[in-house]
Amino acid sequence: MSEAPLFDKVALIGIGLIGSSLARVMRAENLAGEIIVATRSADTLARAVELGLCDRGTLDAADAVKDADLIIACTPMGTYADIGAHIAPFLKPGAIVSDVGSVKAPVFETLGKALPDNVHLVPGHPIAGTEHSGPDAGFPELFKNRWLLLTPAEGTDADAVQKVTDLWTRAGAMVEVMDAHHHDQVLAITSHLPHLIAFTIVGTATDLGDDLKQEVIKFSASGFRDFTRIAASDPTMWRDVFMTNKDAVLEVLGRFDEDLTELKRAIRKGDGDKLFDHFTRTRAIRRGVIDARQDDLPAPTVDSLPGPYQDND
Ligand code: NAP
Repeated sequence: MSEAPLFDKVALIGIGLIGSSLARVMRAENLAGEIIVATRSADTLARAVELGLCDRGTLDAADAVKDADLIIACTPMGTYADIGAHIAPFLKPGAIVSDVGSVKAPVFETLGKALPDNVHLVPGHPIAGTEHSGPDAGFPELFKNRWLLLTPAEGTDADAVQKVTDLWTRAGAMVEVMDAHHHDQVLAITSHLPHLIAFTIVGTATDLGDDLKQEVIKFSASGFRDFTRIAASDPTMWRDVFMTNKDAVLEVLGRFDEDLTELKRAIRKGDGDKLFDHFTRTRAIRRGVIDARQDDLPAPTVDSLPGPYQDND
């Protein structure tokens, strides 16, 4: 017999790639007695209902959160402040509020700002994703063997953190708790910078003269193909990532610039040894990623380094 649901009632605000994957795995693993979904558009809501992703749907997030034990914001981070203020008066005492956003430190000032003291804020971030969006894009195995990082503030109710940990563990993820600022620094280098590079390379190719552009597309080798997949990621989500993780991204970008300049100099000077040493070091990093099983993706993902399939977020 399967285990009892972890939560009686879960409200998902937003039902795109991440929200719908969570809804699917919650259904498959019996993690919620009832799933209520709130979306912005009637079309998305109709599709979520058609796909059987919820027991009830609404266009009003405040309506969705009434009596919910767990509320998870699965929308772009730019929506958090409005959503937090809108749902705050309707939350049940003791409810847990969480999210899946890709940047963590700002969550306390946006989603968390208007929340009453009698609810528990446990921000989360699945290091898993694809370049696809919307309720049809999700699948229940998305989080399997992927990291799920929780970034609660110090002193957050331990039971609340444990319940969110249990949810993601039963969804197949490996959970680690860390400081929100530390999370944002780590993700700036492992995810945000690689995406920025992909957006830049594909943008540069797009700006090439017409003849050359055609050739780039026709003969695109796997390196460039991977970049185009990453650069096809949701523009709203990625705009919000760079708007909310500005300092950490600028810091790693500065270091990246310096390293790139050094490699440029080595190429200009014909310093093959320098290039060879550098590539030998980076090859070792790749082996480390394989050993950590992070290239072993169930599907294209947005939240990690570019891999053999594709990565996002
Ligand atoms: P998505 O597929 O584009 O879905 C976004 C959902 O949010 C849709 O249901 C959309 O509803 C809803 N929404 C958008 N604007 C809204 C608003 N103003 N008010 C209420 N609902 C709104 O997005 P996603 O890829 O699942 O990403 C959601 C979150 O997960 C983001 O914060 C992102 O940082 C994080 N994340 C994404 C990935 C990834 O690989 N994609 C990985 C890890 C974390 P409508 O369709 O009705 O507009």
